[in-house]
Amino acid sequence: MRIDIVSLFPEFVDQCAGFGVVGRARERGLVSLQGWNPRDYAEGNYRKVDDRTFGGGPGMVMLVEPLRRCLAAMREADPVRPHVVYLTPQGRQLDQAKVRELAALPRLALLCGRYEGVDERLVQAEVDEEVSIGDYVLSGGELAAAVVVDAVARLQEGALNDADSASQDSFEDGLLDCPHYSHPVEHAYGTVPEVLRSGNHAAIARWRRQQALGRTWQRRPDLLAGRALSKADQALLDAWRREQGGEGQDGTPGR
Ligand code: SAM
Repeated sequence: MRIDIVSLFPEFVDQCAGFGVVGRARERGLVSLQGWNPRDYAEGNYRKVDDRTFGGGPGMVMLVEPLRRCLAAMREADPVRPHVVYLTPQGRQLDQAKVRELAALPRLALLCGRYEGVDERLVQAEVDEEVSIGDYVLSGGELAAAVVVDAVARLQEGALNDADSASQDSFEDGLLDCPHYSHPVEHAYGTVPEVLRSGNHAAIARWRRQQALGRTWQRRPDLLAGRALSKADQALLDAWRREQGGEGQDGTPGR
């Protein structure tokens, strides 16, 4: 998969994507990153990429022309048409389903704004989709792009040493992940649950499923809302809730 980063600071995203699973995915040739700086396509001695916003008020806006030329060069660099995503707090919020969708594309271009953002005409003419990483405002799109690159790169086939680990992660089947433990078995902070040491794979799978259901119900009830649980899952969750004894009288989640 090819990812093009259009940004005033493309090295920022490049460096974020240099470690661990993502760095390895790049070394293995599963993902390539190319940076494109609109300043390289700006004219004049000052290579101006921003100007004041029409209508008055504070803040600068990223100009259409340097971005248009930069995007044209980016598009021409490879015959595969890029899916152009503008990172903006006004976009559709990123979730694992969207990450999977983006990860399946052959070519993705991530447009990072700065200042008050990008001139709306450029967005209307060049952008396929607007994506937000959450309801807060960053000073630039680079961190958001790095988040997308990380989430998308680790899903490339061969990026994770154990392919199963991604399918067991939170959100993959609409649930949070179960808790995990490692050595030592006994520690001042507690003991590893006996079932995980039993070697009984069916019992371990059942325990993990129950923990995932319980955690999701407790921490993210919105993920379960409107979802019909199978009889087996419902029984596991009911048993988990009885064991916890923590819910309110009305059965609402509580921590
Ligand atoms: N004036 C814009 C608004 O209120 O919608 C915010 C501009 S922000 C200071 C500058 C740039 O940071 C945006 O153009 C966008 O690329 C990026 N950005 C900020 N918050 C973001 C978020 N939650 N998700 C994705 N990108 C974000």
